[in-house]
Amino acid sequence: MYISDMFGTKKTLWSFEIFPPKPTADIDGIKRTVGALADLRPDYVSVTCSAGGSGNSRTIEIAQMLRDDFGVEPLAHLTCINSTKEDISASLEKLSAAGIDNVLALRGDRIAGAAPSPDFSHADELVRYIRGKGYAFDIAGACYPEGHPESADPVEDINNLKRKVEAGVTHLNSQLFYDNDDFFRFSERLALAGITVPVQAGIMPLVKKSTVDRIVGLTGAKIPNKISRMISRFYDDPDSLMEAGIAYATDQIVDLISAGVRGIHLYVMNNSTVARRITENVSSMLASVNR
Ligand code: FAD
Repeated sequence: MYISDMFGTKKTLWSFEIFPPKPTADIDGIKRTVGALADLRPDYVSVTCSAGGSGNSRTIEIAQMLRDDFGVEPLAHLTCINSTKEDISASLEKLSAAGIDNVLALRGDRIAGAAPSPDFSHADELVRYIRGKGYAFDIAGACYPEGHPESADPVEDINNLKRKVEAGVTHLNSQLFYDNDDFFRFSERLALAGITVPVQAGIMPLVKKSTVDRIVGLTGAKIPNKISRMISRFYDDPDSLMEAGIAYATDQIVDLISAGVRGIHLYVMNNSTVARRITENVSSMLASVNR
């Protein structure tokens, strides 16, 4: 089923993002995770892919598992930064043969030492390429409420985003953010720019030391004082960090749903317990706005 059709029937979608196991890992662990996530009845689950050499080798396998074994609609990520047109054509053929309806078209992060694509510099070119090949996929794109780190300013970023949407994107999933006002300001800019496709807000709960280290240290995401206090207080207390992180994410989501957001995309990092706790916290609100 196309995700764009889901937006036609629901005010606010509820989706999860997972990553596939390593090429050599056995399938049972991820199957248990996917089963537990499927019990939470998300509208769809997206499956990341690596921008490097291994590409989307297991993305399609896990996307198929979601749909065939658990009845959950998958959204398969596809990056182009290290791919030729021939590589992308081969991936599109596999996605199509696997009966995947929804693809998230991404440039991918630059990997030091990897040869850049001779054919694709940005995601809008990938979107145009997929549309030009005549595939019937729904194509989602990424967007950045705090601005993409490579962008000189918000105006340039929004103009580039508009180009990507005009190339044929049917909805946008946002990068994680911890200050809802950034998302609300971003939504106003989209409206001013005439970008009208639905946008899902990306929420990544800070529930573990390793996630905190990655988000605070590597992504450059803005960390509000409220989160800094939470991290300083509970960084070395795993149970309390888990509780505080779930509470913060829930609070963000309640505010976003109340403001009428078109969807929440929860970066669950394959942690079905966190996904379950947060889903339980907000399920009655989701049911209410979708009545
Ligand atoms: P683009 O849309 O190409 O934008 C990248 C930068 O280029 C921006 O600064 C933009 O303003 C600028 N730009 C865009 N178009 C043009 C143009 N035509 N001319 C000049 N400048 C332009 N990475 C992975 O490797 N695998 C994943 O599975 C994955 N999943 C993600 C899921 C989501 C929801 C998000 C938000 C990100 C994900 N990423 C993933 C990370 C993503 O690949 C990086 O953020 C990457 O740096 C940008 O990808 P993009 O598709 O947004 O690129």
